[in-house]
Amino acid sequence: MRSRTGIQLRVPEVCRPSAMREGQVNETVQEYIEGIYRLQQEVGRVATNEVAQYMNVSPASASIMLKRLAEMGLVEHTPYRGIILTVEGESLAHQLLRIHRLTERLLTDIIGLPWNDVHDFACKLEHYIAPEIADKIAEALGHPTTCPHGNPIDPTVNDGSWRLSDAEAGTDLLVIKITDERRAFLEYIEELQLVPGAQVEVVCRTPFDGLIQINVDGTPHTIGPEVARYVWVKEPA
Ligand SMILES: [Zn+2]
Repeated sequence: MRSRTGIQLRVPEVCRPSAMREGQVNETVQEYIEGIYRLQQEVGRVATNEVAQYMNVSPASASIMLKRLAEMGLVEHTPYRGIILTVEGESLAHQLLRIHRLTERLLTDIIGLPWNDVHDFACKLEHYIAPEIADKIAEALGHPTTCPHGNPIDPTVNDGSWRLSDAEAGTDLLVIKITDERRAFLEYIEELQLVPGAQVEVVCRTPFDGLIQINVDGTPHTIGPEVARYVWVKEPA
């Protein structure tokens, strides 16, 4: 590159965006794959409209992107039956989630950010962290097994927990993980102290509206089904 004065300008290599080849996994592809994976965990096969809503784009743009993901062999789109990740898509999602969760740990454990702040930052940073760097982060952090919200660093691990919304009255449980990591939700969860590691006693459930009366470390609260759905528990060992 030459400036107007004719002096040769050097553009530092690290700041230059890399050229995107056809079919390459870019940031948008990564975000879709991660989004579809999260939706799949909630509802199984996913509809185009659900993807559009989750990604905050129009159904037409979601449709174009899903076609591209299918051409890349990352999703399988069966008309009227919905979208599902292929084996390749799922393994990419696992890789991205691992990087996401390790990045969250890095931000809480080393940088000292609060747990309700790190999800959004990790969503941005994760696209720039190669798997080899993630390995180094894991090593530096002493190989943590969960993110700050209790979700397994290795997404293929089954921690044996279930949703608090499915828990029976009269049971004493331990909070394992929170799967809605948005800031407002985590702030509410923290207010109730319903965080991973907390003891929760399910006192009773109302029959029609799904309200659950609980004691969290001895303090009584009533929570709605939409909150209980994203709090995962299991019996204490
Ligand atoms: Zn997390």
